[in-house]
Amino acid sequence: MPGTELFGEEERKEVMDVLNTGVLFRYNHDAQRQGHWKAKDFEAVIARFTGAKHALAVSSGSTAVSTMLAACGVGYGDEVIVPPFTFIATIESVLLAGAIPVFAEIDETLCLSAEGIRAVCGPKTKAVLLVHMCGAAADLDGIMAVCREKNIMLIEDTAQALGATYKGKHLGLYGKIGSFSFDFFKINTCGEGGVVITDDEQLIKTAEYFSDHGHSHEGDNRGMEPHYIMGTNYRIGEINAAIGLAQARKLPYILSQQRKHKAIIQERLSKIPGLAFRKQCDDAGDSATFFHMLFPDEATARAANKAMIEAGVGGAYWYDNMYHYIKQWDHLKDMKMPFRTVAHELGLPQDLKTQKFPKSDAVLSRLISFNIRVTWTEAELNAYLDKVEKAVRSAMEGVEV
Ligand SMILES: *Cc1c(COP(=O)(O)O)cnc(C)c1O
Repeated sequence: MPGTELFGEEERKEVMDVLNTGVLFRYNHDAQRQGHWKAKDFEAVIARFTGAKHALAVSSGSTAVSTMLAACGVGYGDEVIVPPFTFIATIESVLLAGAIPVFAEIDETLCLSAEGIRAVCGPKTKAVLLVHMCGAAADLDGIMAVCREKNIMLIEDTAQALGATYKGKHLGLYGKIGSFSFDFFKINTCGEGGVVITDDEQLIKTAEYFSDHGHSHEGDNRGMEPHYIMGTNYRIGEINAAIGLAQARKLPYILSQQRKHKAIIQERLSKIPGLAFRKQCDDAGDSATFFHMLFPDEATARAANKAMIEAGVGGAYWYDNMYHYIKQWDHLKDMKMPFRTVAHELGLPQDLKTQKFPKSDAVLSRLISFNIRVTWTEAELNAYLDKVEKAVRSAMEGVEV
């Protein structure tokens, strides 16, 4: 959780600017705000950092995904291809849009595979909602080729991969539109917040209007602005944006530390015979938020997970102990929501209670991940690695390589 590791004076200064003027709202009140526009500045920093032409800050990563779907016109009955390994927000946004989630297989990139997407593409498929899971890129070349061939939109839920690149370009800029989360667990946090990026001016306008009840933000009389569409309130507040601004300025440092630590970890764990790692589509572009180990089989992964917990260095065995895989999503399988959605009316094309994801199971049952900390000293990192290495080696004993 790098953002939370580096929370301090810079964040407090930006927040105090807002508290001193009392303008907690991101629009208007030009005179009272004494030149402080935290949401606008936050957007500018993210746009400059990622190289996006446009950025829009909103209230969360979840509302950012909803805003993207709205801007792209995804709605009633549209099928959207999603991964079974993601944070559930991805799926909820599709359901709330009145669209239909269709699950495809992931591979050792930990993201949707081009082949998995192709296998579930149909006449009603409108978009792929691609999640760059755990901080690094999916196979974008392969996936973009399928999207072009099938004439479907690519939308990037980049919530977990701010700062990651693919072939030199930031994730979130490969699709029509991309989004980031700034919740408490992401590479940057502002408490609650999200940002949408795109190079498409029309899309960012629609996103902006949608995120603020259709307000066009033209002129300085909010009460009488033209409204081109209806929307909702997904606005970010100035206090959250102020924190996001301070955090975003720390991204270059966070990334360089994480990448430095990842190289040390990689060096060390590569010496363990038979241990494999996440398939990287662009290793240098990995934000290096997580380190991922792939064991030869499920039994060895389970033994390693146990040994790591016993050594006090327990990681994420996503297959069981984290709420990020479809295997755990009983509420989704039962379509438990407080109201009926389009998906209830039309039905899901897949019966999620019986649908199998053998390829995804084969990856996740062998995967253990752990966080790469920004603030590790070299001594701390080495002490941590001593324990991880010992636990992993003990589990790998007797495995034929
Ligand atoms: C965190 C996350 C979200 C939601 O972000 P919030 O800011 O928590 O609403 C959406 N998608 C993915 C893949 C995430 O990891």
